[in-house]
Amino acid sequence: MLIERIWAANDLRNFQYLIACAETGEALVVDPLEGQQCLDAARARGFTTRQILNTHEHLDHTAGNGTVVAETHAKVLAHAGAASRIGGVDRGLGRGDIIKVGRTVELEVLDTPGHTRSHVCLLAHGDSPALFCGDTLFNAGAGNCHHGGDPGLLYETFVNQLAKLPDATRVYPGHDYMARNLAFTIDREPGNADAARALEQARTHDPVHARVTTLGEEKRVNAFLRLSNPELIAKLREEFPDIGEQPDARTVFVKLRELRNRW
Ligand SMILES: [Zn+2]
Ligand SMILES: [Zn+2]
Repeated sequence: MLIERIWAANDLRNFQYLIACAETGEALVVDPLEGQQCLDAARARGFTTRQILNTHEHLDHTAGNGTVVAETHAKVLAHAGAASRIGGVDRGLGRGDIIKVGRTVELEVLDTPGHTRSHVCLLAHGDSPALFCGDTLFNAGAGNCHHGGDPGLLYETFVNQLAKLPDATRVYPGHDYMARNLAFTIDREPGNADAARALEQARTHDPVHARVTTLGEEKRVNAFLRLSNPELIAKLREEFPDIGEQPDARTVFVKLRELRNRW
């Protein structure tokens, strides 16, 4: 499986991706925002774009569909529940569906609500698993729930699905918010040396070459995957005294999300 990350260089800091079969060169575009930029990247690599996958319906993940379809006649894939809001969807997806790219790539569809009600992540299995997670899991963070989402659902997606994937899973999110998210983690957990080290690097990184993290690393630096950490809970209680001495994981997650909204 070949993966090409495309930095949109916009204020929202979007990442778009090409996933291609190494044997046939057939490619799927994930979340095209700048359609022409995605087409140019595919051409430069000699890929033939056959499919588009929108992780969810927000415009910064779908705006390039038309440009890519016009030139390549690619099929558009998206969560069945988001299809009518996106428009032009050829295949509505549900949990457990398999997307094939060329001869060698198979991607499993995860139904991952929270950022929106109808959001999919793509999981590539194998020796070097990879997760394309849109606006659900970010490097050191979690998606907001401002536009059609629900923090309780996002918590369930994190705990029941994402946190259970192998630690070696490479994480390919929809935006680069790594530096800001790491600063949030450190504000919750000043003693987190892994997060401090990662922040030093992320502060000066060129997003074109941003590091790809693994889920194992996320579990060390992402506050939303550290819901039982005593230091984090103690600091959170300073903001929300009513959560008590031993808040459950769901409460910690929802309050972290609430705090991150205004942080
Ligand atoms: Zn979004
Ligand atoms: Zn987005």
